[in-house]
Amino acid sequence: MNPNSFASDPIVGYVVVALVGAAIGSFLGMLVYRLPIILKRQWERDCREALSLPEGQKAETFTIAWPASHCPQCHTPLTIRDNIPLVGYWLLRGRCRHCAASIPRRYFLIEALTTAGAIVSMAHFGFTPRGGLAFLLTAALIALSFIDIREQILPDVITLPFLWLGLLANRAGLYASLDSAVLGAAAAYLFLWVVFQVFRLATGKEGMGHGDFKLFALAGAWLGWQLLPLVLLFASLTGALYGGALILAKRQARTAPIPFGPFLCAATWCALFYGWPLMTFYLRAGHG
Ligand SMILES: [Zn+2]
Repeated sequence: MNPNSFASDPIVGYVVVALVGAAIGSFLGMLVYRLPIILKRQWERDCREALSLPEGQKAETFTIAWPASHCPQCHTPLTIRDNIPLVGYWLLRGRCRHCAASIPRRYFLIEALTTAGAIVSMAHFGFTPRGGLAFLLTAALIALSFIDIREQILPDVITLPFLWLGLLANRAGLYASLDSAVLGAAAAYLFLWVVFQVFRLATGKEGMGHGDFKLFALAGAWLGWQLLPLVLLFASLTGALYGGALILAKRQARTAPIPFGPFLCAATWCALFYGWPLMTFYLRAGHG
């Protein structure tokens, strides 16, 4: 198909993009729930093997694709109608048809965000490889954010392939020069690693996880090194504001950890879409 045929009829193009976005959002909702469970089971098996412990209880098969979507409370499989992204949640009014257990709002939120992300990616970068890859990154960042919020992990199976994808995309200079991207990935990882070590020496505590280093390296691979200070500034500021607001609202003890991943994800996304316009504006304002 001619890649520009969508551009000649943008409405049709955006409808298709929204549908694809909603379908991928539905997949992400499931991934956010299932991937941590799959990983934890795998880690348990690995540990048992390494420690020569007997195998644990044989659990039922549980993969990304199996079993089919069901209510976590009463295990009734979802009907096709209930499974329609966005619409399904609305039709069910957020409750299981069978046992009326409430369905986490996160499913609807992930689907809505992914749909919006698909539309914004195409509107911003056009119906091009740049737009398509920007949407793929958007989807990965959404999944990482929600997994980190729920489980405080940033799985390597998402961060590492997307780090490589960023470098590959920038072979064609889609978002940054290859030189800047390689340097960005390495510098980003090293920087957070050093901050982590210094923080640990100074306080005896671990301020963040290794997944944060890899996520920041991913940001460097996509954005190039020039936008990394902006990402770090934005992520730290929003993270600190959020943490402060929680403490003020007395919802969180001062020492309870807040995952940094979602803030890094949001900052990376903003920098990919609006980083250079912001930088140009800032530099002009600074020297104007
Ligand atoms: Zn149910």
